[in-house]
Amino acid sequence: MPTIGVLALQGDFREHCQRLRSIGVATREVRLPVHLDGLDGLVLPGGESTTIARLLQRFGLQEPLRERARAGFPLWGTCAGAILLGDAVPGLDRAPLGLLPIMVERNAYGRQIDSFETDLDVPALGAKPFHAVFIRAPRIASVGSGVEVLARHEGDPVIVRRGPLLATTFHPELTSDVRLHDYFMTECVGPAESAAKALPTLAGGSH
Ligand code: GLN
Repeated sequence: MPTIGVLALQGDFREHCQRLRSIGVATREVRLPVHLDGLDGLVLPGGESTTIARLLQRFGLQEPLRERARAGFPLWGTCAGAILLGDAVPGLDRAPLGLLPIMVERNAYGRQIDSFETDLDVPALGAKPFHAVFIRAPRIASVGSGVEVLARHEGDPVIVRRGPLLATTFHPELTSDVRLHDYFMTECVGPAESAAKALPTLAGGSH
């Protein structure tokens, strides 16, 4: 059974753990670099991106995450987590992880009171719309090369993916629809796991 870490420094990590467990995935709360060992992927939850960015730095998680991402480690950022994955975030007082070539504008839809819910058309998840909860959501203002846009809201990308990296600007862990958690497991984690399993065979074959 794969084990997925959920960054548990701040924000709604418990809801992500519950959703993942409900689809048969083992979870681990991640607070320190040592907690990353042996994981098959990591979710960066929603919360407050400046707080999470500071704590990532304080607990020494930034570089270990960047190194793993360079080696193909699957990561999924939701809301504040999507902000942290970006490589250009005006107004964030710490460097984001810079793993996905996306420019992210924080709190772009207004204040807490301007939070909203809407049904998204997400062809990759099938015909049924995905009910999405946006809470002081960020806006993906532009995407760089290799970034696939899986859904848009009023023209703005709200689900983007680049290989094993996935970002959503809303909170899929707050509704009971687990299709995005399933998508992350099959499309981002699944292929990475198979690639890792294939490595010993390839290395063995070359001797
Ligand atoms: N507004 C938050 C931030 O910039 C993100 C909101 C969220 O994760 N729900 O950190």
